[in-house]
Amino acid sequence: MEVFGPVPSRRLGQSLGINNIPPKFCSYSCIYCQLGRTDKMKIERAGFYRPMDILKKTGAKMDELVAAGEKVDYITFVADGEPTLDENLGLEIELMRSLGPKTAVISNASLIWMDRVKEDLSKADWVSLKVDAVDEDTWRSADRPHGQLDLSKILEGIKDFAAGYKGTLVTETMLVKGVNDNQETILRTADYLAGIKSSMTYLLVPSRPPSEGWVERPDMDSLKRIYAAMTQKIGPTVELIGGDEGDSFFFTDDIVKDILSITSVHPIREDVIDRLLAERGCSWDTIKRLVQQGVLQQFDYENKRFYVRKVGERGKG
Ligand code: SF4
Repeated sequence: MEVFGPVPSRRLGQSLGINNIPPKFCSYSCIYCQLGRTDKMKIERAGFYRPMDILKKTGAKMDELVAAGEKVDYITFVADGEPTLDENLGLEIELMRSLGPKTAVISNASLIWMDRVKEDLSKADWVSLKVDAVDEDTWRSADRPHGQLDLSKILEGIKDFAAGYKGTLVTETMLVKGVNDNQETILRTADYLAGIKSSMTYLLVPSRPPSEGWVERPDMDSLKRIYAAMTQKIGPTVELIGGDEGDSFFFTDDIVKDILSITSVHPIREDVIDRLLAERGCSWDTIKRLVQQGVLQQFDYENKRFYVRKVGERGKG
């Protein structure tokens, strides 16, 4: 279990992340997943970590940040897999409330047809649900779901949840060239999203090394067309998030520990690490050693080099 950040997030301000799922338990194996292919496909919920251990670790991190004068806007469940697979999620959200910041969950929505999952998510202040496509074939191509999942139940579950949820609900749709970006697919997705009571409809493009090397973001003309179609159906609450999440990760004095923590969920660009090391007068030696030891892996994506913590090394921090 890992607590990382806070990471500056466009949607959540300063967000302290909780990784409540060991790598890589997920109900999907999305073609664009930055964590690689899912090797532990699962739809049964289970307890992975003790909720009190999560509270203790998060509380200690919060104390550290408060002492350093840092602000945390949200404590966010964003996992090395699907956070609602954790059967203790609801209890953990309640425990996190005692620490002060608001709570958020970033979910792929695949289990939202379960009443217990809806109940758990309803405890969070902010919930993001993934809707990459609403037709069976495209959904299967993009998200490669567990064989027992039923798209119609998921779409129904999202609508039910949206109707009763009191917090801030947003949806996210990852756009992949040649997979879910054609006009017919987009219009169907937009029709569905227009019927959901959500605060924002986020459109994303892959900006980090994806699970499948052939995955590409739609070109700029397609993105403009998609944005226009979505806005026309849904209104001005559509936002396109089109690139890297910036290089303003928060780092403490222990830069290596921070790099290990952040790279367990977010790959970091080489130039960002380079600048941070230079600012602290540190050399690349330790990072190179971590690569040699297999703790960190390097990837090239869109002509940029990234570093990410190797799957299996995640969650040990
Ligand atoms: S992107 Fe999210 S939902 Fe998709 S496989 Fe990766 S962890 Fe699972």
